[in-house]
Amino acid sequence: MELIKADENGLSSEELEKISERLHGGAVVAIPTETVYGLAADAMNQEAVKKIFEIKGRPSDNPLIVHISNMRMLNNLVSDFSNDAKKLINAFWPGPLTLVLKKNREVPNIVTAGLDSVAVRMPSHKVALSIIECAKLPLAAPSANLSGLPSPTMARHCVDDLGDKVDFIVDGGSCKVGLESTIILMTKKPYKILRTGIITKSQIEGVIGAVETLQKHEEESICSPGIKYRHYSPNAEVVLISGGISEFTTQVNAVLDGSSCAMVFTGEKLDLDCMCLEYGGQFNSAELAHNLFAVLRKVDELGFKRVFVRAPSPHCAVYDRLTRAAGRESFGENKRIKRTTVF
Ligand code: AMP
Ligand code: MG
Repeated sequence: MELIKADENGLSSEELEKISERLHGGAVVAIPTETVYGLAADAMNQEAVKKIFEIKGRPSDNPLIVHISNMRMLNNLVSDFSNDAKKLINAFWPGPLTLVLKKNREVPNIVTAGLDSVAVRMPSHKVALSIIECAKLPLAAPSANLSGLPSPTMARHCVDDLGDKVDFIVDGGSCKVGLESTIILMTKKPYKILRTGIITKSQIEGVIGAVETLQKHEEESICSPGIKYRHYSPNAEVVLISGGISEFTTQVNAVLDGSSCAMVFTGEKLDLDCMCLEYGGQFNSAELAHNLFAVLRKVDELGFKRVFVRAPSPHCAVYDRLTRAAGRESFGENKRIKRTTVF
């Protein structure tokens, strides 16, 4: 594996040519995007895409997002798209919004897990765009972590997870957004938000009117297979606790031991006898998103076996990721943390 570091001007033309050549040869490359690092390969090359699934240990029924750098690429991937899709593209691309649209026959089934739709996004990270533009290839790119672990938001996280399993890791610094894109299913009405992200439902509704959110009971259904899998979890057990500071400290102090730590909001003082890792201001959803995965990874790096997390507003995407990291267990006013004996 070769680590290539982008500077403030991005990558040099030699570096871009080198990466492009390898992508055309079917290589898999970790690249920075504004959401999280992606594990990228030529979306139209089945063998290359197969490697993505193998490297990540990703179930084959979990479709990938295809990353593009211009509208010509979109036209080659999808059979048609509505005026509403156009409006969202104008409002949010390049940026952290993925549209699921009817696919063209040319898009390999391995990319879409056999669905007749394809998920497409134009990232805004200039390094990602320059790689796609130089290669002139749409790139299938899920997050560049091992399946199930927190997504990588720094090149170091990709090195930790993937090491020599990839040809290149491109270091473009820490990802600005830090959370995966918002995904919206647009193949039929009513449109449905399949995954929350930093672009919110109300921002989308401001452009195309009312949309729905995927309900819990729909998550297992065919419309977005990947959502059913456990995601974003560090090796440590994640215990998400809703409520105020005193609720949190009382519950945590009752079960605290030396192998646990806490994830708390920046600047708050908690009467807890354990390490407290700050992950952002309580009402600063952008900051929480930016730090979430790096701090979850830090919990493992420091060797903790359990982390108690102060839950942010249940309406933000960070809360959604935390409930998944915690295997949906969440503790609040009416629930108590059970004394856990297995560490
Ligand atoms: P990621 O794991 O960040 O690459 O996100 C990919 C997710 O996008 C998958 O887990 C699916 O939930 C969703 N997705 C991708 N393609 C489709 C599709 N054709 N239809 C519905 N959901 C999709
Ligand atoms: Mg992922």
